[in-house]
Amino acid sequence: MYLSRLPLTTLKETPADAETVSHRLMLRAGLIRRLASGLYNWMPLGMRVLHKVQTIVREEMDRAGALELVMPSVQPAELWRESGRWEDYGPELLRMKDRHERDFCLGPTHEEVITDIARHELMSHRQLPVNYYQVQTKFRDEIRPRFGVMRAREFIMKDAYSFHLDEQSLLEGYELMRDAYRRVFDRLGLEYRIVQADSGAIGGSRSEEFLVLAATGEDAIAWCDADGFAANVEVVSIAASGNAAPDPSHERELVATPGVGTIAELARFLGTGADRCLKTLLVKGNETPAVALLLRGDHELNAIKAQNLHGVAAPLTMLRGAEVEAATGCEPGFLGPVELPVPMHVDHAAAELSDFVCGANRPDYHYTGVNWERDVDLPGVADLRTAVAGDPSPLGGGPLSVARGIEVGHIFQLGTKYSDAMDATVLDADGNKRSMHMGCYGIGVTRVVAAAIEQNHDEHGIIWPAAIAPFQVIVVPINPDRSEVVRETMAELHDRLSEAGLEVLVDDRAQRPGFKFADADLIGIPHRIVIAERGLKAGQVEYKGRSESDVTLVPVESIVDFLRSRA
Ligand code: ATP
Ligand code: MG
Repeated sequence: MYLSRLPLTTLKETPADAETVSHRLMLRAGLIRRLASGLYNWMPLGMRVLHKVQTIVREEMDRAGALELVMPSVQPAELWRESGRWEDYGPELLRMKDRHERDFCLGPTHEEVITDIARHELMSHRQLPVNYYQVQTKFRDEIRPRFGVMRAREFIMKDAYSFHLDEQSLLEGYELMRDAYRRVFDRLGLEYRIVQADSGAIGGSRSEEFLVLAATGEDAIAWCDADGFAANVEVVSIAASGNAAPDPSHERELVATPGVGTIAELARFLGTGADRCLKTLLVKGNETPAVALLLRGDHELNAIKAQNLHGVAAPLTMLRGAEVEAATGCEPGFLGPVELPVPMHVDHAAAELSDFVCGANRPDYHYTGVNWERDVDLPGVADLRTAVAGDPSPLGGGPLSVARGIEVGHIFQLGTKYSDAMDATVLDADGNKRSMHMGCYGIGVTRVVAAAIEQNHDEHGIIWPAAIAPFQVIVVPINPDRSEVVRETMAELHDRLSEAGLEVLVDDRAQRPGFKFADADLIGIPHRIVIAERGLKAGQVEYKGRSESDVTLVPVESIVDFLRSRA
């Protein structure tokens, strides 16, 4: 293709609202354009990348025996009422009415629709197992759409759903998908990890995520090489250290801490560490208006663990200013367990503190030298926090490492949650009705493109993994308007490379060489060939790989073989 035929507007400036590298580079390279919050147009150059990802995904799904279909984006509310999710799903579900005032939603996922298909199409155990998949647009009214297509409201997902007679068959189907996903991400050329995950609102039992490693990832994963453990930090359980709190050595003292309402400020003000302070968080209860969760100041509350605690309302809801005051009589920032009039849970690590600092339930005051049992009864102790590097692996192999990642795929064993709710049964060999066991498997196709860039770029732009580059080769003629031999060679290379099956982009625009080189680097084409009159006198063109710094001179007539040897 000739670049003069592809209206490509690359941006030299960094778009102001783009926080991540992939978002910036996708905008700058003209792969996507924003329509509204969380809504993006995929422009022709971006579409070529998206197609490649979709093709790899389809090929591996087909190879694993899955069957492609496509379901509507608009889904009737009745199905969601049957599964119970019309009530449960919350505001991410975009609901609407048609002209007859009937309720519909824009599908954030398709368990209900596929289960409806299955209960009509699948009657006998002889038809099982079966796996249906689609590559289709989803809509989720995300609370915080951000990072471009990484967390969009409308995005493309490959979703697959498998149906089985029993649990054993589901396990086999799940393993098959797990292998297919590994092949997909291997072929995409991405560095990833498979980790245990939370099943979340979708339900079911076992689930694993595929995460592309990247410093800007929204997820964090913990692993231990010694024992093979790997999980999203969200779901890592942390055992108590077994150490009792040391004996008290200080008296409790009331200290004025005017305006010092955060742990960081408090630690600085008192010249102590955040790990010596107690953090008191108030969340909504299901039997009382408030429940207090107590953690060490340097630890993060884990929402999944917290909302599973007795008395805590799910989904976890933090109480804010006025609600906190109503429940405790004190403003946030100065809370602590001493005489706090709400039920409490304390994290293991916080329960092991002695002589600690906490709020005095009085504005602008804290206590120092507080000790459990002596100054305040120890509440119920639980695992409340999110794991950090150095915490012990649940499998006992030693300390955990932690790195950030981007969730690009998620596989679940759903069991009979949807088939029970929606009466999706088949007859088994004995003629008995049995609920089908289900698995579901998603890949964020559009997110994969952003994740690939997040992992593969430099200060000049994108460095596409070969399998998903929009073009494999870019040909940059120097001043073609001034040299007939350059023009001829440009056309010749375009045809020869295309005939050889290479996807070639020829930058025939009337621009200065520096401008063209910058664009070639920005859009990240793996192989670059420069045609200059001087080189042609010796029958040569210049080759450079996108991530190489040196150029190689290559005879024009052997360019195809040369590129093939590099591919
Ligand atoms: P997340 O935790 O990132 O919100 P999820 O658990 O809601 O993801 P699933 O319901 O498992 O995601 O969806 C399958 C895949 O779809 C995810 O692994 C992810 O790659 C992709 N995905 C989910 N939400 C979005 C979004 N808002 N924008 C782009 N891709 C998304
Ligand atoms: Mg989500």
